[in-house]
Amino acid sequence: MQEYDVIVIGGGPGGLAAAYPLAQAGKKVLVVERDLWGGTCPNYGCDPKKMLYSAVQAKSYAARMTNAGLNGIPDINWPNLMDFKRRYTIKVPAGTRGGVTKAGMTAVDGVARFVDDRTIIVNTEYYRGQDIIIATGVQPVVPQIKGHNLIKTSREFLDMDQLPQRIAFIGAGYVSMELANIAASAGADVHVIMHGDRALRAFPTAAVSALQTAMVAKRIHFHENVELSRAEELPNGVRLTAPGFTLDVQRVFAAMGRLPDQALTLARGHIQAGTRGIPVNEFMQTNDPHVYAIGDVVNKKQPKLTPVAGFEGRYVAEHLLGNQQPIQYPVIPTTVYGALEVSQVGVSPDAAADDERYQVKAAEVTHWYTYNRTQESFASVTVVEEKATGRIAGAVVVASGAESLVNLLTMAINTKTPTAEVLRMVFAYPSAASDLSYLL
Ligand SMILES: Cc1cc2nc3c(=O)[nH]c(=O)nc-3n(C[C@H](O)[C@H](O)[C@H](O)COP(=O)(O)OP(=O)(O)OC[C@H]3O[C@@H](n4cnc5c(N)ncnc54)[C@H](O)[C@@H]3O)c2cc1C
Repeated sequence: MQEYDVIVIGGGPGGLAAAYPLAQAGKKVLVVERDLWGGTCPNYGCDPKKMLYSAVQAKSYAARMTNAGLNGIPDINWPNLMDFKRRYTIKVPAGTRGGVTKAGMTAVDGVARFVDDRTIIVNTEYYRGQDIIIATGVQPVVPQIKGHNLIKTSREFLDMDQLPQRIAFIGAGYVSMELANIAASAGADVHVIMHGDRALRAFPTAAVSALQTAMVAKRIHFHENVELSRAEELPNGVRLTAPGFTLDVQRVFAAMGRLPDQALTLARGHIQAGTRGIPVNEFMQTNDPHVYAIGDVVNKKQPKLTPVAGFEGRYVAEHLLGNQQPIQYPVIPTTVYGALEVSQVGVSPDAAADDERYQVKAAEVTHWYTYNRTQESFASVTVVEEKATGRIAGAVVVASGAESLVNLLTMAINTKTPTAEVLRMVFAYPSAASDLSYLL
């Protein structure tokens, strides 16, 4: 039996954000990873997705600038783009594992399982920790219909050698919308199959509508209110069927959300866990105060994103090192890198519309110098302001580089800066931030 101060299960953004400060503070730390060190985000999530998106962005910028100084729209060379992505991802697992050991921690490969309240087993070895942090993430949900083994996930999409000509995505969350845009921009005929009639439920209606219009303009087909019943193998693809609906595609990917099945196996019998994840208190403790859960595996209202996992990881490290304050989340921006970039933070304009504490300033800003210069097809900025204090409470930006402007407004919200103060600041000119004065 090997003894540790802290055992971290899962070597993704959450687990590592907890592990490093604990090791730096002199704790004896073990990190266990069953798959790729670095976890979902850098191996088969945010980072590889945005590597592929780089080429899509460049192509779309070039397309907008035809007749504005550029001739011709470049093609996306999928195998070459995939090679570019792999040059990045190939280094992640070994680099991450190396970083863990270099920082004086023990790195173990294998699936961790609890054997009692403080002991886990990995392979055939037992490890005991004074405290244990579960940071095991979530897995993509695949519809359990007949032929479900023909349905792949974002992980396979992000590592395809060739781009199929005809692709279906099941689901209309941010992963589906982003991958559909990448595939369509690279030349595939893309179909998005929706269970209901509303894409991106977590995003404001007007922004989603603008994004969907841009996706339809890229010839992405949306099939609403489809309850798939089976997937059948065809000689060169898959047939998807639902009552009154048939679609033949070469490949189909489920992007219907992600749930923590591994964690449930891991925690069964000792740590309480539901189908939506592990419940925690305001200190990120599970039902056992010496066992913490962080990141995507937690059943929480915060979005399941890398910076949230990192924030929770750093918080738990601080808590174990003596901070007794409960976790307090800042406002969290979320972005869809799609046919338009949609970024939002804080109070949603949809919620503010029915709440007299707020006023909403919204404008289509395609004519702003910044977006005119880059020939955007559509741009809009919405700011939600708290009437009593004049503070910015929320923002939505739909435009290229939306995340940069929303990051700036996130800073204003977190620092409780009133709009009048934001207007007094001098920003680099010309830029989206300097254009903000037209709206505020
Ligand atoms: C396609 C896609 C795109 C995304 N895009 C974005 C984005 O643009 N921005 C953003 O912020 N977020 C994005 N995300 C979400 C982001 O990847 C996650 O929020 C983040 O990785 C969560 O970190 P985590 O540490 O909680 O879990 P993970 O990164 O999933 O890490 C958990 C680790 O635990 C390991 N593990 C599980 N069970 C065990 C066990 N029993 N024993 C040992 N190890 C175990 C897993 O192998 C995994 O490596 C995206 C996700 C996907 C799938």
